[in-house]
Amino acid sequence: MTLRAQPNASHFVDGFYIEDAAGSPIPVLYPATGQEIARLHEATPAILEQAVASGMRAQRDWAARSGTERGRVLRRAAEIMRARNRELSELETLDTGKPLQETLVADAASGADALEYFGGIAAALTGEHIPLGGDFAYTVREPLGVCAGIGAWNYPIQIASWKAAPALACGNAMIFKPSETTPLSALKLAEILMEAGAPAGLFNVVQGTGSVGAALAGDERIAKISLTGSVPTGRKVYAAAADGLKHVTMELGGKSPLIVFDDADVENAISGAILGNFYSSGQICSNGTRVFVQRSIKEKFLTRLTERLAGVVMGDPMDETVNFGPLVSETQLEKVLSYVKTGQDEGARLITGGNRTGREGWFMEPTVFADVTDGMTIAREEIFGPVMTVLDFDDEDEVIERANDTEFGLAAAVFTADLGRAHRVIGKLQAGTTWINTYNLTPVEMPFGGVKKSGVGRENGWAAIEHYSQMKSVYVALGKTEAPY
Ligand code: NAD
Repeated sequence: MTLRAQPNASHFVDGFYIEDAAGSPIPVLYPATGQEIARLHEATPAILEQAVASGMRAQRDWAARSGTERGRVLRRAAEIMRARNRELSELETLDTGKPLQETLVADAASGADALEYFGGIAAALTGEHIPLGGDFAYTVREPLGVCAGIGAWNYPIQIASWKAAPALACGNAMIFKPSETTPLSALKLAEILMEAGAPAGLFNVVQGTGSVGAALAGDERIAKISLTGSVPTGRKVYAAAADGLKHVTMELGGKSPLIVFDDADVENAISGAILGNFYSSGQICSNGTRVFVQRSIKEKFLTRLTERLAGVVMGDPMDETVNFGPLVSETQLEKVLSYVKTGQDEGARLITGGNRTGREGWFMEPTVFADVTDGMTIAREEIFGPVMTVLDFDDEDEVIERANDTEFGLAAAVFTADLGRAHRVIGKLQAGTTWINTYNLTPVEMPFGGVKKSGVGRENGWAAIEHYSQMKSVYVALGKTEAPY
């Protein structure tokens, strides 16, 4: 029997789908039913060797092309991706369980934006001329070589594209290892790049668990590792990269504050809190899971929030009217439900939700806790599921101090009608990506990333170029070189 989303083979290397059945099996399950939709195999050392060798060969060819030509390939890939958006979105929904209503607008679409944006920048990657009073110097922006991308399971094709687009624009090759939970859509990106004119081997996809990621991080021939994942994995990958003195980008977890002052447009703030806690069933790294609400509007906020949650439509994610899907896996569901129990045990007030639903698949209700205090586990640890914690506060200085009292620093937001306060508070929040009066908008033009334990480096915007290229300085002497003897 052919499985519903079975690809031609597990890996895409050197321009072709390839298989090595000796690798451990990776079953791929549809989160809405638990049914197997594909079965892949982990990359063996032979597959990895082919991926690195072809990546090195392709990178030399690619770096020798002009920026204009590289950019054209990326922009063509963006067009193909947009033309195939529905098919890619359906695949992403099967792989992640996220509603088609979301994947149609947020996944391949955002990947295409990255390909288009960095495709546009490729031809503008120049160095500078430095006059030295006669002699002069110039700089050349060079690629790093073969980069490795390692992805998380929440935004598979977006993560692959956000890494591949700037890497390729700068003249690098990339070997991408998707999360073993959602391995399918990165293969499509590889197909699309080939169709758009990228040389075989420029973007290879290899499947596997952490051990395959670790093999890439430990390979001498890999110049850079870009990881999207949790803090514990970040620590391991960063350590391996340090051993090889490799470049890194680390996009890690968060426990971000979303602060609502009493002068805010409450409906707007609730929209932000809904987006920042329940979109993708809460499985978003930048989510504003600590919702600080000024005490005077607390009851109004909670009442309207609860009313608006009646708009949740749970069901088959393939149905475009559904706006709330399952969690990605049974393991993730159990983890999130155990946090709900901890929240109750530690005395938080459960306002709504908290349960697994009766339907098949890994669904749970959107969950809101109020009366949460700073020391509670649910206010300190990343849950990565649809669990909002609402905390009360009285004044500005207090909320800034409490918002910053975390090891994470990925994102933050402020909702207020007072422009001065908005900028003042944002200026004091320790976070890499912030919003005023909205939440979780991440256009490709805007750098995205975290401070503190949430990350190193940035994706998107011009900032990403800095992380996928290096400078060569060239001193040019116009006269004779003087030596003492
Ligand atoms: P994870 O850390 O378990 O895994 C991430 C990836 O790392 C997977 O591909 C995994 O196979 C690989 N990996 C695991 N151990 C490894 C090792 N020792 N060496 C190399 N690779 C290894 O994370 P996850 O559960 O897939 O994703 C959820 C986490 O990702 C959350 O913490 C979330 O906040 C974070 N995340 C961050 C961002 C961001 O941009 N900051 C975006 C999405 C998700």
